[in-house]
Amino acid sequence: MPLPSDFQFSQGSLQDFVDCKRRFQLRYLLEIAWPAVPAEPYLENEQHLRLGALFHLMAQQHVLGVDEGRLTAMAQEEPLAGWWQNFLQDRPATAGAQYPETVLSMPFGQAAERRLLAKMDLVVVDNGRATIYDWKTSRRRPPRAWLAERMQTRVYPYLMIQAGAELNGGQPFAPEQVEMVYWFAGFPNRPERFSYTADQFAEDGASLAGLLDQAATLSLSDAPFPLTPDESKCRFCVYRSLCNRGVVAGDLNELDFDDPEPAVEFDLDFEQVAEVEY
Ligand code: SF4
Repeated sequence: MPLPSDFQFSQGSLQDFVDCKRRFQLRYLLEIAWPAVPAEPYLENEQHLRLGALFHLMAQQHVLGVDEGRLTAMAQEEPLAGWWQNFLQDRPATAGAQYPETVLSMPFGQAAERRLLAKMDLVVVDNGRATIYDWKTSRRRPPRAWLAERMQTRVYPYLMIQAGAELNGGQPFAPEQVEMVYWFAGFPNRPERFSYTADQFAEDGASLAGLLDQAATLSLSDAPFPLTPDESKCRFCVYRSLCNRGVVAGDLNELDFDDPEPAVEFDLDFEQVAEVEY
């Protein structure tokens, strides 16, 4: 199935492509919803992911000026209550113009027919500098080397330079004016910061274009995309039985630093959540 001409790449789909070409094909091109759980204990995983989604919504509402007491009343259960206290006490972004849940996109590909898109938890612009914040609620705090390899660390700053001028009075940011910060709700005093450079920007542009070319070329054939040779990536992948890579869901205790995907998408609506809580 050819890559649709209006396909929108995100850091998530690019990360899937890098991790396993077959997963990218199954999830984004064939859109197969495979009935398997990504991790066990299933309920514990879903609960953690649901609270993580709620934390992101509360952080957004806080930046938008929703009453802090009202938000705090929503954080009754752990680990959300602890994350929220950490956020109120130690969140790093407090000065400058704040843009929560910022969506940036740009034309992507040789003929600029596809798009590259990102939704950023928070962008702070201060003195002509843009800091992109990403809130992480994973169980473990990933090491810097692992984060440096993530597509998110490349895609977000790259997009900020290519498509973030509106946040800077119409003036594009230079690479040295952009920084990416991961802030960990469970480890609030250990954020990880990545500054950006012109060399990294050029390297990322080339590597992102290369990934798009690979995806477009593979999709010209109806053949299955290559399965990852790293079978450890299959343990928390819902397609494992489809790929003959096992039938047992990964154990949460053996999870590395990435949250497995939720079995269902959380469509949290702030007003609905608030009504439930009050
Ligand atoms: S089970 Fe493994 S090979 Fe199959 S899509 Fe998932 S990661 Fe790829």
